[in-house]
Amino acid sequence: MKIICIGRNYKDHATELKNNLPKQPLFFLKPDTALLRNNSPFFIPDFSNEIHYEVELILKINRLGKTIQSKYAHRYYDSIGLGIDFTARDIQKICIEKGLPWEPAKAFDYSAAVSKFIPKSTLKNPVNISFRLEINSKVVQLGNSSEMIFGFDELINYVSKYITLRTGDIIFSGTPAGVGPVKTGDRLQAYMEDKLMMDFIIK
Ligand code: MG
Repeated sequence: MKIICIGRNYKDHATELKNNLPKQPLFFLKPDTALLRNNSPFFIPDFSNEIHYEVELILKINRLGKTIQSKYAHRYYDSIGLGIDFTARDIQKICIEKGLPWEPAKAFDYSAAVSKFIPKSTLKNPVNISFRLEINSKVVQLGNSSEMIFGFDELINYVSKYITLRTGDIIFSGTPAGVGPVKTGDRLQAYMEDKLMMDFIIK
């Protein structure tokens, strides 16, 4: 499987990192070795002094597809969860400055924490899903899928022009404002609507 991550998909987050708003989706990949599941602790890697959390709605692809039209895209995912796109922000800044690939900052081991997935059919409205991240019981990020610059269906349409989507692939749909660093001992709790989806510790 592969993990496809969308960047700069919320206006307020693009602005907080002083990026222009994208005219088309921006995406990058993480390998399957990036997965962190079952509320396992996240260990801060020794190559970075600034690991940021980014809470995101994530989609699980449930059928094979290539060049999927937006109007059919909803057929290609049937469950939604939450993920944390851990980012070595110090390294990413250097990559951006020098025009280098982002993988050292984004694709490292255990950089893609994922929750369990909830069937889309049980959600009231997949285009209006609120979610939040709390660190040590304080809300640090608050988002809603209605605020995405490119919605789920547009993302699937765009990515599948370039890359075949397969069953089990995961799409991270971008993070709202409020990103920041994690430190040893932090407790991260992520909620979708008011359901606790992730609860784990930084080590
Ligand atoms: Mg992200």
